[in-house]
Amino acid sequence: MGALLVLFGVRRANAWPIMSKRPTVTVKPREGRRARAGAPWIFSNEIAMEGATKALPPGSVVDVKGDDGQDFGSGFFNPKSLISVRLFARKVGAAADEKFFAGHLARALALRERIYDRPFYRLVHAEGDGLPGLVIDRFGNVLVVQITIAGMEEKLPVLLAALNKLLTPETIILRNDTPSRALEGLESYVRVAQGAASRIAVEENGARYFADLGQGQKTGWYYDQRDNRAFIAKLAKGRTVLDAYSYTGGFGILAAKAGAKEVICLDSSEPALKLAEESAAANQVSVRAVKADVFEEITRLGAQKERFDIVIADPPPFVKSRKDLEPGAKAYRKLARLAADITAPGGLLLLASCSHNIPLERFASECSAGILKGGRGASLIHSAGAGADHPVHPLLPESAYLKALVYALD
Ligand code: SAH
Repeated sequence: MGALLVLFGVRRANAWPIMSKRPTVTVKPREGRRARAGAPWIFSNEIAMEGATKALPPGSVVDVKGDDGQDFGSGFFNPKSLISVRLFARKVGAAADEKFFAGHLARALALRERIYDRPFYRLVHAEGDGLPGLVIDRFGNVLVVQITIAGMEEKLPVLLAALNKLLTPETIILRNDTPSRALEGLESYVRVAQGAASRIAVEENGARYFADLGQGQKTGWYYDQRDNRAFIAKLAKGRTVLDAYSYTGGFGILAAKAGAKEVICLDSSEPALKLAEESAAANQVSVRAVKADVFEEITRLGAQKERFDIVIADPPPFVKSRKDLEPGAKAYRKLARLAADITAPGGLLLLASCSHNIPLERFASECSAGILKGGRGASLIHSAGAGADHPVHPLLPESAYLKALVYALD
């Protein structure tokens, strides 16, 4: 009887996994070199895209194997995307369930809690935190979630459950309106998953700012420049500062708080400038908000021989895709030339790029070419990226998108 039960049990145990067995995606011979070395991406041309694989629904959880039988791991698969596989585990058969999310979220949180005193940071930075296609910014008890791949979108319910268990946030906003979602066949939407979307306060570097979480750009606030704002602020006492592409005043307000003599925040967005003025008031400082196109305004200021001790230029990405590299690089060079023109003798110029698609070396060479073209001597005194709450997967160096270079001008 016992033997029969065991037999029956074994038969059932065998039958079920066959019925629910998840698909396996195969990497072509001699392909997937980066993934074999530990990178979490596999591109569509590296995969044997035969009929059954191609027909898998976007966002399917798959096992990934080499044609030689080597295990690559478990991943999210999207046959429609150039990056077809995003591995989330190095072993096959791993589940992206609540336990998986709980583990990764707890690790991400512990890292931030070691670094920051206050609960204001990027909590999850995609592959850098082992969670492909997921970004979460934390503003105290408000979380802003941004999903960029189909596999992660499928997991939204378990993700929300894990977030609620870990942090019991009051509000969770889904800012799923990044253009890159189209590459994954995902719709664009902004939704309040719980609580209420509203303007909230951000605490950073000891200053208070306001962000509009529902309507602001990206997740409403750019935590990536935190350390670079602090670097500039340290040098701003008694100086005049032009914060070009200021958004809600991240750089300018901190500089004013650190004792800058005069601060201008220059941006084309009226709502962003309004928030900058309100944030300035909350910090008992004042900044002058100017709504204008940066290229036009700094050309005009240059012609009028206006000069600032510190100029910051942190534009939107000029190189949105690889095909924009040449025109984008040219735009960075021109911006550097115009910005150098309005930097006072002995002044400092911060030039930043948030374009994934221009490498640091190229960006730096465009910046120096632009500065030198204007006839100014300069030395690079600081080269930085995003803060420590934007960890980079060691085998995905291209995800270190932010570049911030500070030049001391003659
Ligand atoms: N420095 C900011 C972030 C800048 S984001 C911070 O520390 O938070 C880029 C900003 O450029 C946005 O606020 C956007 O409104 C602005 N912008 C985009 N194109 C512009 C243009 N042509 N002229 C002026 N501002 C522009």
